[in-house]
Amino acid sequence: MEVLVKAAMLLGIPAAVLAMLFYRWRRDAMAQIAELSAALFEMETARRRAEAASAAKSRFLATMSHEIRTPMNGVIGMTSLLLETSLTPEQKSYTAAIDSSSRALLSIIDEILDTSKIEAGRVEFDDHPFSLFELLENAAELLAPRAHAKGIEVATYVSRKLPPLIIGDRNRLRQVVLNLMGNAVKFTEGGGVMLHATPASASDQPDTVSISFEIIDTGIGISPSDQRQIFEMFAQASGDIAGKFGGTGLGLAISRDLVRRMGGDIECRSEPGSGATFAFTLRFKRGEESEAALPLPLAGRTVALALPAGPTRTALTLTLADLGAEVAELASEQAASVLIKSIAEHRIARTDLIVDASMAALFQRWLATAGHAHPHLWLLMQPEERRRYRGFIEAGTSYLLKPLRQSTLIRQFVERDMLCLSEAVVQLKKLASGSAEADPLSVLLVEDNAINARLTIAMLEKAGHRVRHLTSGSAAANEMHASLSGSSNAPSPPDLILMDVQMPGMSGLDATRRIRALENSFAAASRPILALTANARAEDYDACIASGMNGFLSKPFDRADLDEAIARVARRTAA
Ligand code: ADP
Repeated sequence: MEVLVKAAMLLGIPAAVLAMLFYRWRRDAMAQIAELSAALFEMETARRRAEAASAAKSRFLATMSHEIRTPMNGVIGMTSLLLETSLTPEQKSYTAAIDSSSRALLSIIDEILDTSKIEAGRVEFDDHPFSLFELLENAAELLAPRAHAKGIEVATYVSRKLPPLIIGDRNRLRQVVLNLMGNAVKFTEGGGVMLHATPASASDQPDTVSISFEIIDTGIGISPSDQRQIFEMFAQASGDIAGKFGGTGLGLAISRDLVRRMGGDIECRSEPGSGATFAFTLRFKRGEESEAALPLPLAGRTVALALPAGPTRTALTLTLADLGAEVAELASEQAASVLIKSIAEHRIARTDLIVDASMAALFQRWLATAGHAHPHLWLLMQPEERRRYRGFIEAGTSYLLKPLRQSTLIRQFVERDMLCLSEAVVQLKKLASGSAEADPLSVLLVEDNAINARLTIAMLEKAGHRVRHLTSGSAAANEMHASLSGSSNAPSPPDLILMDVQMPGMSGLDATRRIRALENSFAAASRPILALTANARAEDYDACIASGMNGFLSKPFDRADLDEAIARVARRTAA
């Protein structure tokens, strides 16, 4: 101030004027400061209000989704209980529809909740061991009714090189897969959607596995410029997508966020008009394997496919090859009749024929002319088509439902073999006892394949027999030694032994030789031993008989093999 006064005096400005100027300036400055702090206060209040509103929105969404979840859990829980009761096929398919719709509704609720969580930066991951096969096949099954209603297919191929159990956040992965597959179904009008899971080439530690997921559709596709923006929140491709297809534009943003948080990224490849592929790779820890890795359950089997080109045929071809089957695609009617003829001529015993249900009548006619060595016919249909093909189903034709699960394929194929097996055991017993009544047998099953063993045991036990299961030839030989030598806690010798032929360590043939030698040295009666094997060639038969087995049950064995097996055992029993 002093400096100002001196300067004013030098310039000849009167002190009174100077004072007035100073006070006016101070008043203006004070007013501006007051205005500024009022504005700041207002801003702060608005920010607090916005935060409170956002917190209230998140709370509202959380409460709402919780409130909706509680009755939804009731609906889903009661539906799954209902599905376990005995229902007609029609009631079952309606109940299954309620089940899938309520689960879909639950996923929408989750999507809304997730958006609010992502906005608030609060997404948590919860790692547990889970089966990738089950998760992906369930996802396909969930979306199948929607796809079938549009006349398109949904199929999955999960490589058997992937471990049965992986550790990760199952719910988040399911959410991403369902979202991408749901979009693929939504934007596809012809052809279909294929979900592909294979080991990624990325180098893994021994306890981890990188998995590459691809969701491939034959739909409308996405232009390069749209591909850049569809991952943003509330973004949809150009054109009237919302009007034509609906949607919120949130799914891809959420999915990308989740995949990034799990350590990957989603990539989109597409050409407008010829479909889209959404791909991502994630690394998981391997889960503990409770059972030894399963060998090839369909080895030694030829499966011919008469199916139109599309995701189902592609997925089935890959899956069957993974399971060890030889796959023949019958692209034409001519190819089909050539196959049937060659089966009839060369007696290729283990051929199955999977035919699109629409061609059922045609193939049945062909098979009728193929003689007794014809392949086993499976009709492949959508669950919704069961009514249309009821005539075939009621007449006992086997059928498979789309989308096919790998486990169903194994179970159906192997179970059919086992049905033959349990019938054979009953026949054997009848013949051995000379009575029409089949008494329970004590059966020793020697089989290293966990699935085959589980099924054989179930089938035999259902037929009333007692089964003891051993997983190696040497265990069987040791147990027979203990039984025959009368060891105190050894089980008594079985009535019948079912022996797998190919097992790690001591093979079924060596085990049989060992058991026969033991029976000789203890002068004990020899037990019937039947080979249980996938190999149906003559030299395999000879090898089984040469080792001391009484019969041969190839999976599925034909009538001639069964009669021969029974006749041999009967001769032994009579001797
Ligand atoms: P929504 O499906 O609810 O619109 P998304 O975020 O899941 O939201 O998808 C955003 C947009 O990306 C869609 O609206 C659509 O334009 C495009 N899109 C996603 N998936 C596909 C697909 N498989 N084929 C064609 N367009 C797709």
